[in-house]
Amino acid sequence: MTDELDTGPGSLYDDLTKPARLETERFFAAAIGPKSSPRPCQGHRTHAPKALYSESHHVVPQAWQALWQPETPWPNQGRSPDHQGLVLWDARTFDWCRTGHGNTHFLLVRMMQTFARSPSLSGGSPGHGAGFADMLASSAGLRSPRAELAGAKLAIERWIDAGGDLRFLVERGQFGAI
Ligand SMILES: [Zn+2]
Ligand SMILES: [Zn+2]
Repeated sequence: MTDELDTGPGSLYDDLTKPARLETERFFAAAIGPKSSPRPCQGHRTHAPKALYSESHHVVPQAWQALWQPETPWPNQGRSPDHQGLVLWDARTFDWCRTGHGNTHFLLVRMMQTFARSPSLSGGSPGHGAGFADMLASSAGLRSPRAELAGAKLAIERWIDAGGDLRFLVERGQFGAI
């Protein structure tokens, strides 16, 4: 049933969950917020209070992907749903309730801050993204919520395994805020 709902710009979901789009919207210039999704939150079985909608979360933040791109081929390539003209090299998304989404970015920023305060650490090397993310989470003292922490670690893992450098992001103030 929900598959038939239009969830694009200006649709019911957009109308209900974010302010009207600005005519002059440009990349990252207008705060339109995350794209809404009619699919249930993938991170939690139950919600209190009830989650009436979800948000489509790009596991590797779109702002990071716009700043740096790995060599092709990009097996998970796709167009950005909300930044016109931007081609993402990892378009994979996860449907989160708003709280889970906010928590994921909160934990990601904590991990990035921990990295930023450790100038002796390299930015990680491809193939070791998961281990590096685990190390950062431990250093930051992060253990929960489990689903959100897994989501935050996955951002770091995929960035590093694609060849991305965390130091590059820190130097540009890109800590993965929502
Ligand atoms: Zn997100
Ligand atoms: Zn949730």
